[in-house]
Amino acid sequence: MRSEIIQNQDTPLYPISTAAKLLGISVHTLRMYERAGFILPFQKESSHRLYSQSDIERLKCIRRAINEDKISIAGIQRIQALMPCWDVIKCSQKDREHCDAFNNHAYACWMYNHKKNICENLDCKSCQVYKEFYDCARIKSKIIEITEKHESSL
Ligand code: SF4
Repeated sequence: MRSEIIQNQDTPLYPISTAAKLLGISVHTLRMYERAGFILPFQKESSHRLYSQSDIERLKCIRRAINEDKISIAGIQRIQALMPCWDVIKCSQKDREHCDAFNNHAYACWMYNHKKNICENLDCKSCQVYKEFYDCARIKSKIIEITEKHESSL
């Protein structure tokens, strides 16, 4: 029987040097974006990071925000920190009391080490919030969409 590897946009494929080359940036810059929380790479057991095509598209979007819209790294972090994940995930009041993402506004929610809340065991890389809220240019329209849904459910 022929074994077939099914690949999709989320399949971890590229080592860091290839990902950096595809983006036209240095490995150092890619690591900096990672530390800033713009990307959560896949990690192999050997601790070498791998990136998917979705990761590349995500970082292209960050590059556009930096180069074309002239938004600083700190600015993008602040925009991402304002994403209303609580309205997407519909967490409880109790979850929010135990959530650094809800109670701070420095980083995107996937950057925090969640304990005692609904996100404690969540795989951020496959979370709707991480997957949908990466395009700085569209965050505002996504927030409007969520607010409208929220209001129509009242
Ligand atoms: S990170 Fe999770 S627990 Fe915290 S506010 Fe967002 S959805 Fe709720």
